[in-house]
Amino acid sequence: MEQVDCVVIGAGVVGLAVARALALQGREVIVLEAENAFGTITSARNSEVIHAGIYYPAGSLKAELCVRGKAMLYDFCESHHVEHRRCGKLIVATSAAQVATLEGIRAKAAANGVHDLQLLSRDEARALEPQLECEAALLSPSTGIIDSHGLMTALLGDAEGAGAMLAVQSPVLSGAVTAEGIRLEVGGEGTTTLLARTVINSAGLTAPDLARRIAGVPREHVPPQFYAKGCYFTLAGRAPFSRLIYPVPEAAGLGVHLTLDLGGQARFGPNVRWIDEIEYSVPPHDADGFYAEVRRYWPGLADGALQPGYAGIRPKISGPTEVAADFRIDGPAVHGVPGLVNLFGIESPGLTSSLAIAERVAGLV
Ligand SMILES: Cc1cc2nc3c(=O)[nH]c(=O)nc-3n(C[C@H](O)[C@H](O)[C@H](O)COP(=O)(O)OP(=O)(O)OC[C@H]3O[C@@H](n4cnc5c(N)ncnc54)[C@H](O)[C@@H]3O)c2cc1C
Repeated sequence: MEQVDCVVIGAGVVGLAVARALALQGREVIVLEAENAFGTITSARNSEVIHAGIYYPAGSLKAELCVRGKAMLYDFCESHHVEHRRCGKLIVATSAAQVATLEGIRAKAAANGVHDLQLLSRDEARALEPQLECEAALLSPSTGIIDSHGLMTALLGDAEGAGAMLAVQSPVLSGAVTAEGIRLEVGGEGTTTLLARTVINSAGLTAPDLARRIAGVPREHVPPQFYAKGCYFTLAGRAPFSRLIYPVPEAAGLGVHLTLDLGGQARFGPNVRWIDEIEYSVPPHDADGFYAEVRRYWPGLADGALQPGYAGIRPKISGPTEVAADFRIDGPAVHGVPGLVNLFGIESPGLTSSLAIAERVAGLV
């Protein structure tokens, strides 16, 4: 049995950020990744938006780590030459009733420490984005977009530079808490057993399942696992806007919004479909519901302009009828297992928050 100081399970953006933070502290770190490359699951299937931290409940980890993570991420992108653009975002009210909602959103953002939102009249908004239809809008100047693969490459580069090792095709199958440390059975080319002083479960969608496969982790501290798929549709041709455009959020979610990638391609989505099994198909008829929603703020959307793009799955730990759960960063003080940190429910804004989550984890172990 090989002994190691720290094992990070999962090489998504969060696992890589954690590995970097631990390696920079001088710890010995091995990252175990089930797939044959890093960052191929949720970290490769998202909107690539650097979120400002507007909508999350005040005092939540999502609010705190998004706002801190955003600042850390912009600094990291600058220092590590990760492609990104602080393009800004408009939240648009398309009816008089929604205009009052914008004020509420601004107050919520301020409670989270986001003080730069500007309320724009219809004319001011249209001066920025001439194709936009709205009654009023909120401009969030600190929202941006990022090359998430470039980010992960840079995180891994720092981690490896500080001595960390990435092992791909190395799924953690099971484990057990022992007096000497946490034992992990690792599959792949041949099963190996590792004994680690510190284990970070950053397995994303299946993190709760994995925690349940480690004997000695109290079951009452492992949440249920739910999947909420989101499909994107891409727009053929030139993007009509230079900023991200979001409708006023409604009860069901953030609404069908427009994001841009760094190549200038526009995409709409993601919608919400609760699923039982992991699968990434994009049913073409899902676009049917997008047209009416998008035309409320962009009447110029032509019939047939939306093409199926890709899908991602939100790693949910609360079900469809429950209030959305906060991030969970469960260290020994929560579950009582020395050296173990479970990361549960790291959905959006997990990409934005990745460096702040890593800082928090490194402080726990
Ligand atoms: C549709 C959608 C849109 C989003 N948009 C945004 C956005 O615009 N901005 C933002 O900030 N956030 C966004 N997010 C959230 C963000 O993508 C995630 O929070 C983030 O990618 C999570 O990273 P992760 O490392 O925790 O998970 P993942 O990227 O899923 O990485 C987990 C890794 O663990 C590996 N793994 C799993 N089990 C094992 C095992 N047993 N052994 C070894 N390895 C294992 C997996 O193969 C995977 O590589 C979005 C999410 C979705 C679904």
